[in-house]
Amino acid sequence: MKSSFEDEVRFYDPGENWSGVKCSACGADAEEWWGEAMETASADGFKDLNTVAPCCGATVSLNDLRYIWPAAFGRFALEAHNPGIGDTTEEQDRKMAECLGTPLRKIWGQV
Ligand SMILES: [Zn+2]
Repeated sequence: MKSSFEDEVRFYDPGENWSGVKCSACGADAEEWWGEAMETASADGFKDLNTVAPCCGATVSLNDLRYIWPAAFGRFALEAHNPGIGDTTEEQDRKMAECLGTPLRKIWGQV
């Protein structure tokens, strides 16, 4: 297990498991505009993750879009490579978050 702190917020994507992204407000496919919204947000160090979804005009957070395969923004990561377990249980996830004192989002990546 490896943990890493970043100076700046970065986007943790699931690598080859990437399966697309949908608008959190209306459910439309967001992949077309997502890349550009990411670039805009990235230019500002991901300080402002809110963007106006062109599909429905709603203000949505890039962090809350419906990533088909989980992805997240953050400055801290715990990484386990080939953990050799099927999955962590909700109990284990909760304990890890409790120990760290911060909410965690689990992302299964493939590199
Ligand atoms: Zn929408």
